[in-house]
Amino acid sequence: QTPLNPEYTFDNFVEGRTNQFAYASAFAASEQPGGLYNPLLIYGDVGLGKTHLMQAIANNMLVHNPDAKIKYVTSENFMNDYINSIKTGTQEQFRQEYRDLDALLVDDVQFFSEKNGTQLEFFNTFNSLHDNNKQIVLTADQNPKEIPNLTDRLVSRFVWGLTVEITAPDLETRIAILNRKAEEENLQGIPNEVFNFIASKINTNVRELEGALMRVRVFADLHKTSINEAVAREALQGIGNDAPATLSIDLIQKKVAAHFNINQSDITGKKRVKNIVIPRQIAMYLSRELTDNSLPRIGKEFGGKDHTTVLHAIDKIEKQMTSDSNLQKEINSLKKDLRP
Ligand code: ADP
Ligand code: MG
Repeated sequence: QTPLNPEYTFDNFVEGRTNQFAYASAFAASEQPGGLYNPLLIYGDVGLGKTHLMQAIANNMLVHNPDAKIKYVTSENFMNDYINSIKTGTQEQFRQEYRDLDALLVDDVQFFSEKNGTQLEFFNTFNSLHDNNKQIVLTADQNPKEIPNLTDRLVSRFVWGLTVEITAPDLETRIAILNRKAEEENLQGIPNEVFNFIASKINTNVRELEGALMRVRVFADLHKTSINEAVAREALQGIGNDAPATLSIDLIQKKVAAHFNINQSDITGKKRVKNIVIPRQIAMYLSRELTDNSLPRIGKEFGGKDHTTVLHAIDKIEKQMTSDSNLQKEINSLKKDLRP
């Protein structure tokens, strides 16, 4: 049994486009445990907030009912408890412990893969809880249907209730998360450009985002300076999507213009027609992804545009890529061209 982290609450969780469905489902399950969303299964890559949301369910249930019997374990905890109970002949006790509950939360069920004995035991635990309308919450690092060597009947139970995916946060959400973390850490007066810089450089997951902010903070402390964009840039050198110094914004503009059969002056110009605006936004996006230039700097090289325009462009392209696989392919091939 792992203790709950009291910081993992719904209040401390920043909602964004890529996690709001998971957030809403988790919140609903915690308000009405054993109700519609049973089991609730949240899946997605590492560092995207699955454990946070799962524990938020427990913490919120305890707010409503401090006596609620809730068990939070990793799937490995479950397995070890089960094995121990066999060794020590205390299986009855084990079963009671896992079935006499209001809610059972099992983190990272992908580790059940190949553990057939544990899977069978968990199947029985699951059924017992579910039959009694007790809430079950599960997380996994991928869609349970794709976890190898998980028995079909277990998979079918896992997706009985509601299955929701969390994907990597978009730029706006990353900036919001950094703001929230800075607030939580009592870091005051960090300029917005610093948040923008970190968020555009680290586009993988929230844990790395937190790590980057921490790194900038430690770096500033060591150098006895306040946090600004130059400091952040130095602190995060070689981290995140860093670019070779040789790749210039100019070259990106030329390549993108050639690819879309328009002129480079269109890319840096002000025309608002669609067949120019989109290549322009793609070029801005690639400049941020593939070079080390700041947003204001990129804006400048695109005909003196404001950094918020650049931010907007990056965000728009990121969003569009998640729903438009052709655009994604196009951008990936441009990237490969630019940085083989
Ligand atoms: P996972 O279980 O998916 O690997 P975690 O729940 O451990 O990810 O999240 C990693 C870190 O990121 C934790 O410190 C968590 O609080 C934080 N985190 C993740 N998503 C968010 C979010 N949307 N808002 C605030 N913090 C978040
Ligand atoms: Mg986790």
